[in-house]
Amino acid sequence: MTVPAQIEMTGVGVQIAWDNNQTCTYPYRYLRLQCACAACVEEMTGRPILNVASVPEDIIAVEYLKVGKYALQFLWTDGHDSGIYPFEKLLQLSENDNAVICQSTS
Ligand SMILES: [Zn+2]
Repeated sequence: MTVPAQIEMTGVGVQIAWDNNQTCTYPYRYLRLQCACAACVEEMTGRPILNVASVPEDIIAVEYLKVGKYALQFLWTDGHDSGIYPFEKLLQLSENDNAVICQSTS
């Protein structure tokens, strides 16, 4: 399984150096909008319930936690902290979404 080797809060976003030699930058607001917690996405239907307009343009993550061996949790400047971001999801975003900028480090 690919896991983060290093995590840094940079000026533009969360930078994750994966142990597959890819370093990816996830813009803060973009990542905040991917939150899949019960306050942001309706559990039964998967319907988004987060009011996107309520998320400040200049939001950043001030802190992160590792959740077990499989996920990250962020504390955002809008006070939100209940979202769990599985490594697998973060990797999928880096592969499938142009908002995430990745560089090969090998
Ligand atoms: Zn959320």
